Amino acid sequence: MQRSKLDNDIEEVLEMFPKMKLEEEGKVKTLLGEVDIFDGANMYVDSFNIKVIAPPRYPYEFPKLFETGKKIKHIADRHISDDGSCCVCSLQEENLVSQRGITIKSFFLKYVLPYLANQIYFDSQGKWANGDFEHGNLGIFQYYSELLKLENITEVIEFLSVFNVTKMYRNDDCFCGSGKKLKRCHQDTYNIFKGLSKKRREIDLLELKILEKRISKKIKEEEL
Ligand SMILES: [Zn+2]
Ligand SMILES: [Zn+2]
Repeated sequence: MQRSKLDNDIEEVLEMFPKMKLEEEGKVKTLLGEVDIFDGANMYVDSFNIKVIAPPRYPYEFPKLFETGKKIKHIADRHISDDGSCCVCSLQEENLVSQRGITIKSFFLKYVLPYLANQIYFDSQGKWANGDFEHGNLGIFQYYSELLKLENITEVIEFLSVFNVTKMYRNDDCFCGSGKKLKRCHQDTYNIFKGLSKKRREIDLLELKILEKRISKKIKEEEL
């Protein structure tokens, strides 16, 4: 039988992480075992027991990471999702990256190791090394708010409502209100936005509308 790209990629990862092993159940390939975390000066810090599941549409789907040693509290505040998987980055980044394709090796290097190192940092410092990043709906708002430089959720919703369905052209006035043409202003931002899949943007818009309702309800309650 011909070896797939996934088989080759897994072999490479097993060489890099000798305490990991491959488990196959039907078509599902899972990497199980321990990884060591080193600090910036290459000093050993800690180890984690993990499980990484290769997705069916490899490499065009994001792999899933699970922390199996219960070293991390399995709660949203530690960026563990409802299904128990680790939320290693925003859903939007997942979407952008997996459309280009992501290998198991780069998943380990760019997401698994930094995520685990960040958990160690959080344990000792009580905050995340790369600033605050929100989980769930708030995380979606944070992503677009930072990308589009819009502080207000209603503005973000308006932007998505319009530009999920219509196209902005290079010579149009920029959405930010600077009066400059898009190509001389936020063209890069706009390209990232349109690089997200349509489905991702539509789900995010719905989630943001739910969040907006929750926020305005909370404001009303506080005013009473
Ligand atoms: Zn999260
Ligand atoms: Zn602009």
